[in-house]
Amino acid sequence: MQQKHLTSTKRFCNSRQWLKKAVSFAVLTALMSPVCFTWTRAQDVLSSLPAKTAATLATKDNQASRQADRKAFIDDLMAKMTLVEKLGQLNLPSAGDFTTGQAKSSDIAASIRQGKVGGLFNIKGEAKIKAVQDIAIKESRLHIPMIFGMDVIHGYETVFPIPLGLSTSWDTALIRQTARAAAKEASADGINWTFSPMVDISRDPRWGRVSEGNGEDPFLGSQIAKAMVEGYQADLSSNENIMACVKHFALYGAIEAGKEYNTVDMSHLQMYNDYFPPYKAAVAAGAGSVMASFNLVDGVPASGNHWLLTDVLRDQWGFEGFVVSDYTGVPEMTAHGMGDYQAVSALALKAGLDMDMVGEGFLTTLTKSLQEGKITQSEIDQACRRILEAKYDLGLFKDPYKYCNDKRAGTEIFTEQNKAFAKKAATQSMVLLKNERQILPLKKNQKIALIGPLADAANQMSGTWAVAANNTGVQSLLQAMKRAVADSNQLYYAPGSDLTADSILQNNATMFGKTLPRYTRNKNPEQLIEDALDVSSKADVIVAALGESAEFSGESSSRSMICIPDAQEELLKALVKTGKPVVLVLFNGRPLTLDWESKNVTAILDTWFGGTMAAPAIADLLFGAANPSGKLTMTFPQNVGQIPLYYNHMNTGRPLSKGKWFEKFRSNYLDVSNLPVYPFGYGLSYTRFKYGKMRLSDTSLTANQSLQITIPITNNGDYDGKETVQLYIRDLVGSVVRPVQQLKGFQKITLKKGQTEQVQFTLTPEDLKFYNSQLNYVWEAGDFEIMVGPNSQDVQTSTVHWSK
Ligand code: BGC
Repeated sequence: MQQKHLTSTKRFCNSRQWLKKAVSFAVLTALMSPVCFTWTRAQDVLSSLPAKTAATLATKDNQASRQADRKAFIDDLMAKMTLVEKLGQLNLPSAGDFTTGQAKSSDIAASIRQGKVGGLFNIKGEAKIKAVQDIAIKESRLHIPMIFGMDVIHGYETVFPIPLGLSTSWDTALIRQTARAAAKEASADGINWTFSPMVDISRDPRWGRVSEGNGEDPFLGSQIAKAMVEGYQADLSSNENIMACVKHFALYGAIEAGKEYNTVDMSHLQMYNDYFPPYKAAVAAGAGSVMASFNLVDGVPASGNHWLLTDVLRDQWGFEGFVVSDYTGVPEMTAHGMGDYQAVSALALKAGLDMDMVGEGFLTTLTKSLQEGKITQSEIDQACRRILEAKYDLGLFKDPYKYCNDKRAGTEIFTEQNKAFAKKAATQSMVLLKNERQILPLKKNQKIALIGPLADAANQMSGTWAVAANNTGVQSLLQAMKRAVADSNQLYYAPGSDLTADSILQNNATMFGKTLPRYTRNKNPEQLIEDALDVSSKADVIVAALGESAEFSGESSSRSMICIPDAQEELLKALVKTGKPVVLVLFNGRPLTLDWESKNVTAILDTWFGGTMAAPAIADLLFGAANPSGKLTMTFPQNVGQIPLYYNHMNTGRPLSKGKWFEKFRSNYLDVSNLPVYPFGYGLSYTRFKYGKMRLSDTSLTANQSLQITIPITNNGDYDGKETVQLYIRDLVGSVVRPVQQLKGFQKITLKKGQTEQVQFTLTPEDLKFYNSQLNYVWEAGDFEIMVGPNSQDVQTSTVHWSK
């Protein structure tokens, strides 16, 4: 491509305009001396500055000159583009998945030749991507390279835990590294753009897509959003980095009743304080693109919402990348009631949406809208420019094949090193919810009955949204436990039940080839349970591998009840009745209602879906080769009626007294207490951590002061372990009501047994800020509670006064 430009520039200079060239030269010479003078002066000034300031200025200069180069290049290119070619850049069809060799003869290839396609998504394989890029580069008029996107959500071929699981590691460095590893693998296979991170805050576990996000907290969610963007993108200069796409902007996690694609209605105050922060953090970290969500924001679908996509995203947050719609998000605005295909396409462009995923309304209707004066040429140009800028930033104009390297594709994907790291990530993400009588870790000489329809289900381990997963060698829990036990007479297995009694529900929850057997084809449910009890009678301890299948959560997988499915629940009750200790190994893409389980089983290990190395990681945890350290990032309610139940709620005027279940004329239910089963931040370890007394550097502070909070943590159990120490605050009096608790810091520390560490947090007035009713980001003087603890419920509290 660059070669082509050089050639035409050369031709232009040589042939026609020697006179013009001579004039330009004369002008340049005249200008030269002041330019040189200015440059020399600038050098002098730079050398007299402190090194850091000089470096910053130089970087700014470099940036400015890079921007100027980019602008000149794109100006030049756009001057040559026809309207159709410009609209083509805004068009993002789904590739389906070509088989090798098919790409060239497809309808998409014909469109690419005509310059009608800006990029493709969800083609897998370096060779296929190269073949498609070839068409754009060699056979289209202007040779503009395409971008290739994919849902690389929690890993590529090597799959890491589902994002909700990664978030429970509370380890942002680890999470950044998972994004890095995913970028490295995907980029080795031709991908240069990922539809990740998904940073939608959600307080509703009925929504299946909580599995793709980071839970309910804006502070933690923001840290993770930043880490993911940094992990994917770094500075985009290397071919190992890919462009991030923050989604789903905005508020998708707040859909009513957790029902997929449903309506959202929310105050601006709540948007700015609770739901916007992670998107904003991702933008601040430099995310190159943003995906508009399917839902309404303030009555207008996000894809056509000017306030959201322009006023907030660009004017308030300074976003300079491009906005892509979600899959058919633009034409879906017709069903919302925003007008016909042409009208909604024009609405989206005018709102600030730059690229139309799958809908093709931009390509097919914007010419007419332009002729009718419904949109302007500069609106089209602006969107086109943003797509070209992204391609420029990815380095595709310099080298359209930057991401196509068959050597890398052959050596950098699904490597042993990545698998080892995936095991580490999986181990760190699992949460020990209960461990009565220290039944875990299992003892080497115990006889174990492994029961459950998820015990021998290797195909479920990757979880939802793992479109590129390589399942070669992925083990089921049964296989991993067999490898872990010393003696084959130690482990017995029976499935015990189907995933669900209803076969249709099972089909809907095991799509995309992730089927599970229907054991009831050969035996009735009672016989299956009898078999499981027979097997259990030989064992000292029962491990029950139960819960959801991979596709029980994810997109279009909302549930109205979030319990362990019926058939499994009956099995579990029968197992508990044996009186033997039951360890529940839970597979789940969302918080489940575990009230009965929390009271009746001996231990619960929540493993989410741990990815490629899930099973060996679980085995390590069960047998004590690793120690659990995950902590919940979403509240586990007692029942569905309590939803939304989240730790950082507002107080009512009639709060229930602490420790009470019900008081008349107080904010509560008749039939269930206000408490969760497991609160935000909760998770156990095989060792015990003792929290000493919190010390504050001061209890009365002024505006320019910071507060140091120190707390000694001792590992006084029998194992080395990791603990996530959490800092919360409460702003006791505000001009708008403030939450009863807000996470403001956390530290994951490693302590050897017997070791003590003084954990220190610093708070400044910046940490006290919130959006007030004028949507100004301010802090207000007054009293603040400072809380530290192992989870959001078990905290010690002190009060400080902060004046202006
Ligand atoms: C999902 C997005 C995804 C897109 C492309 C949509 O249905 O909502 O999260 O990135 O498809 O696969």
